[in-house]
Amino acid sequence: MHELALAQEMLVILNEEAARHRLKKVTGITLEVGVLANVVPEALSFAFEALTGDTIFEGATLVLHKIPVKAVCQDCGESYTALQIPFFCPQCKSNKASILAGTELHIVNLMGEAHDDY
Ligand SMILES: [Zn+2]
Repeated sequence: MHELALAQEMLVILNEEAARHRLKKVTGITLEVGVLANVVPEALSFAFEALTGDTIFEGATLVLHKIPVKAVCQDCGESYTALQIPFFCPQCKSNKASILAGTELHIVNLMGEAHDDY
């Protein structure tokens, strides 16, 4: 399952971030997910929950924001964005495009409780 691998990758970054912010408990995570990253939110939440039992991330809410595809048409040079796949150039209907954005998965925000011994 694709989302399980993604959740594992995310956790590596999340652990670093949580340590950096000295969080003892994480309650919410906001993610930006490119439309082309092909992530099923429910599957990602499920994988995340399965991996985070008994960790500081247990019970954290995942909020996913979709990032549209940004592309440049290889036939006519038009730049455009699309929120759906498959996508086509709005000018010439070509499906040949250079992708500039839309495949990424970013962690934009972590909410939680910090250690108070600092
Ligand atoms: Zn075009």
